Amino acid sequence: MLELRNVQVLYDRAIEAVRDVSLSVPDGAMVALLGSNGAGKSTILKAISGVLTQEDGEVVAGSVMFDGKPLGGSAPRDIVRRGIIQVPEGRALFAPLTVEENLLMGGFTRSRSAAKEGIERVYDLFPKVRERRHQIAGYLSGGEQQMVAIGRALMAEPKVLMLDEPSLGLAPQIIEDIFSAVVALNRDAGVTVLLVEQNAQLALEVTSRGYIIENGRIVLDGASEDLRRNADVQEFYLGMA
Ligand code: ATP
Repeated sequence: MLELRNVQVLYDRAIEAVRDVSLSVPDGAMVALLGSNGAGKSTILKAISGVLTQEDGEVVAGSVMFDGKPLGGSAPRDIVRRGIIQVPEGRALFAPLTVEENLLMGGFTRSRSAAKEGIERVYDLFPKVRERRHQIAGYLSGGEQQMVAIGRALMAEPKVLMLDEPSLGLAPQIIEDIFSAVVALNRDAGVTVLLVEQNAQLALEVTSRGYIIENGRIVLDGASEDLRRNADVQEFYLGMA
């Protein structure tokens, strides 16, 4: 179980981006974190993956726990070793490298043979990535890059996969391919998923629980099915007013 308890995050010791946030992601679950631009979603993911300090951010109160032990204060690479892997917004691939080289970078903690097996699993999950394996990552379409970014994360054999707006800017068909793959990973490989999305409709369809964040605070949470039926959620996040 991944758990945040009463977490507060400041940037530059002054800007409060996240306040008193508590949320839990049980093992094997798929949980959505929803909210508009600037609500604090990415900050929460960064607080978990340990990269906040690179942006002068800091968890100043509360705790982040994984399997009952604190993550706070651990270096990002140690958090990766514990099995928590983030696919960042904007994908952040190594643009001049080939697709396969990008995947190999994700498997740096693993043996050669394990990395080879990992690559095959990624290609089975995303046949388009197999087709593009010798191409330069920077020249792929947005959707293909998102697939490579998820594939690179999978190379580290995540227990928890954190996805930051995987649907952003992509065509509906590609979004469907990506979401089906993520659902399959969760269902068949038991990977726990924390999904950050602005596309609430889609996120609430594939997850079992959701949290809605506004101005750094969780304002609503519950079963995804209930959130989909909630009048406020329909009005503000599903465009069904
Ligand atoms: P988006 O989808 O636009 O990324 P978000 O919900 O992920 O939105 P965050 O990126 O977590 O939101 O930002 C939360 C708040 O923290 C915003 O007010 C933002 O301006 C601020 N913020 C984010 N990163 C920094 C930073 N490096 N330095 C200072 N303030 C920051």
